[in-house]
Amino acid sequence: MSEIAQFRTTTRHMLKGSKAYASQTLMGGLSGFESPIGMDRRDRINALKSGDIGFVHSWDINTSVDGPGTRMTVFMSGCPLRCQYCQNPDTWKMRDGKPVYLEAMIKKIDRYADLFKATGGGITFSGGESMMQPAFVSRVFRASKEMGVHTCLDTSGFLNRNYTDEMIDDIDLCLLDVKSGDEETYRIVTGGVLQPTIDFGQRLAKAGKKIWIRFVLVPDLTSAEENVENVAKICETFGDAVEHIDVLPFHQLGRPKWHELRIPYPLEDQKGPSAAMKQRVMDQFRSHGFVVY
Ligand code: SF4
Repeated sequence: MSEIAQFRTTTRHMLKGSKAYASQTLMGGLSGFESPIGMDRRDRINALKSGDIGFVHSWDINTSVDGPGTRMTVFMSGCPLRCQYCQNPDTWKMRDGKPVYLEAMIKKIDRYADLFKATGGGITFSGGESMMQPAFVSRVFRASKEMGVHTCLDTSGFLNRNYTDEMIDDIDLCLLDVKSGDEETYRIVTGGVLQPTIDFGQRLAKAGKKIWIRFVLVPDLTSAEENVENVAKICETFGDAVEHIDVLPFHQLGRPKWHELRIPYPLEDQKGPSAAMKQRVMDQFRSHGFVVY
């Protein structure tokens, strides 16, 4: 049996770092990319602006995790938010990523293009925050569309303004994190503001794109009924663009990274939601007519 044929389709959005995720991951890390060596700082900044290089934390090939089918997921480095429940604080600083040439990335996608097409998969940019490097990501998406490869952007939408309508044209699917339903809660959860997420979702909907909403459920942080209601109302403004909502129960798989980086971890003692709480939140979204996983 080939490596690819051994893949099973499992539940959506497994927890990265979990055994289940590892079992669905064929290969990855940071191998296989030529990296620009010897560029001085100014050259790097210019190359970043033009999208000739992107700073990448890691990548992998997986199935049914970050979008449909077998996908190459690229975790970009750099994120402007500081979510209390972040499981990848090692992606926060762009400079901690590895610079990768645009051509090297496109070449790698081309190598897997037949597999992507055969499985209904494609390329997913995640992070960190994928919209922090709009030139690189959108140029890769353009090239992917020219190869007939499905494109997916995993984002909080916080950097809505980084994306032009033309860039949105090359997104097939967006995994949009709606991290809370009102500005005050959003600020507590992420340190950022909510409105850009709403604006980005509405732009995607207007452009006829598909959206999968992700909502991380954390007791005493995002779990309040009113907060969930407000998230549901925001999602309603995206209309038929929303294919489903994923309710993701908080977990502690990211805790060792916070410790390793010596960042004070606000959710040290958080145990995650009970099955009953998850059910209540899923039912709340369902009562607004959404398909919920
Ligand atoms: S947006 Fe994602 S990567 Fe950034 S802090 Fe939040 S959870 Fe972490």
